[in-house]
Parts: sequence; C-alpha cells; structure tokens
Amino acid sequence: MWPQVKAGLRGELLFYDKFFEELKLEPLLDAGVKADLTGVRGGDLVNFDVTTNIEYKDIDKYVEIIQKRKKTYEIVLVNLKNEDFEFFPLRFPVCPKCGRFSHYILYLEPATTETCRWSDISDEQSIVQVCTKCKYFEDLKTLHFEVHSLSAEIDEMVSTIDVDESPRFSSKDVADYSQKASSSIVKFFERDTELLISGVAENKYVITDPRDASGYYDGLLHWKHPLAHDLSNYLGIYCGEYELGKSEAAEFVKDIKCKLCKQPNMRYNHTKQTLTCRRCGLIHDVSQYIKSLVTVGWEIKRVRKPDT
Ligand SMILES: [Zn+2]
Ligand SMILES: [Zn+2]
Repeated sequence: MWPQVKAGLRGELLFYDKFFEELKLEPLLDAGVKADLTGVRGGDLVNFDVTTNIEYKDIDKYVEIIQKRKKTYEIVLVNLKNEDFEFFPLRFPVCPKCGRFSHYILYLEPATTETCRWSDISDEQSIVQVCTKCKYFEDLKTLHFEVHSLSAEIDEMVSTIDVDESPRFSSKDVADYSQKASSSIVKFFERDTELLISGVAENKYVITDPRDASGYYDGLLHWKHPLAHDLSNYLGIYCGEYELGKSEAAEFVKDIKCKLCKQPNMRYNHTKQTLTCRRCGLIHDVSQYIKSLVTVGWEIKRVRKPDT
C-alpha cells in the first residue's frame, strides 16, 4: 500500500480509538462529504476530516459542502509519532464577493499616544477581512486593548549582542518567540471576538532602494493559521494615513490651471508635489491641496500600498 494512504488510515484509527466515546464518532462512508467521520461536539454535529499532513489540505475544497450542509467541519491533525491531536475548525469567513474562504486578520496598529509609542504598545487593533483570491477587503472592527508590539520585541531581540559582539538570540529563538507570542495574542482576541483569526499583522516598512531608504509600508504577518496557505508573508495593506499614489494624485491635479496663463497644460512632480506650467514655467505648490484631499476625502485607514 502507498505510504501516504497507510499513514492516513493509521491516523484515522488513532483518532477513532481515542475519541470515539467522547465525540460519539461514526464513520462516514459517502466520499462526497469530504470527511472521514462524523460526531457530536457540544451538542452540534461535526464532520471530522483526519490528516497527518496539513500542508496538503486545501480549505476551499470544503467551502461549498459546509454551506450546503450547514454542518461544522473540523480538520484533525494527527501526529503519528507522539499520537498527538490538533483540531482546526473550518470557521473561516466566506468571502461575500467570490464565495470562497477569506480570512480575519488581527492588525496591531501603531500606538496612538506618545506614552504608548515610547513603550512600544499597540493601543488600538483592527480586525480586517481579506480575500486573497478576489482581493476583497473590509475593515471590520476596532478594538482597544494594550498589546506589546511584536515587531518592537523582535527588533530588540535581533539587535541584542553579547559582550563578545555575537548576537544573543539565534533566528530560531526569534521565530520561536514570534510564534509563541502570536499564539497567545490570537487566543486572547479569538475569545474576545469569537472569530477564527487567520493572522497577526503589524506595519513594516519595506525598503526598495537601500541608497536612500525609500520604500513603502506593508502589513507583515507575524503568524498565520496553519491552514491559511493562501496568505503570503505580507498583506498588501498597511495601517496609517492614506497616501495618494502618484497616478491618483496626478488625476486630482490634472485640471488645475496655471495662475498666469490660465491654461491647464501643467507637468506634475509627485515627489515635490508641484505643477510646472509647460508654457510659462511657473511652478505651483500643490502639496497643501493634496494634503486636504487626504484628510478630507480619504478617511480610509487601511489601503493597498501606494503605487510608486
Ligand atoms: Zn473573495
Ligand atoms: Zn503658465
């Protein structure tokens, strides 16, 4: 028999033996239901799909059947070596735009007060819903807890050196810390919001040109749910004041006329935020105008990274 199939069957048997009483397990013989066993948890009927390798589980294979049957599904990860079990309820939110599974991401926002900034505390968090498949995005809710910034702690660990100038923490130490701290944050916010959280994110400035340190903000995921294979390390959204991208800004200023010639034939410079008249050469400062667009017209806090 193929080794994977054998491992799968062993996993199912281990799970059945250990939980058949507690979860009132019964085998499901219909291959169409995409689960191995059915049972009861907390009075609700639950379908269990047992696996020994979570890497190959595609959550979108279940989205249709879950909606059709209105039944809870859980992936059971069996560790054959130590006979350990982990349960992953498939409570990912269904994307309202494309109907596939999307994700709730917990965003630790930058500090809003000076005191919190100095102590690296995020005093405002957001839950955002993102769909990587159709780019759906929604800022769902804002929360006000005090959470120590993971990025700040990680930066601190990375830059700490011992007397012999060697780094005190290995990259494994840092990764372990990040994983552990994220997990406890996720547990706390899942209890508070009753949502299944797929990721913990924070702002990260991504440098594209080391010569002048120019770049853009993006949302770095410190942690992601083991089944959120579709999430990459960055979200493509960041938290902060909306910055108009070059093409958007150019669109807004394109009809402004030269104060001297009264004609709109002007060249826009996004870096300097100026318009230069192509006829008389007069330079117009439009930075205030652009700023007013940002604060008045763009109250959105999370946006895709500015186009550069
Ligand atoms: Zn979608
Ligand atoms: Zn002019």
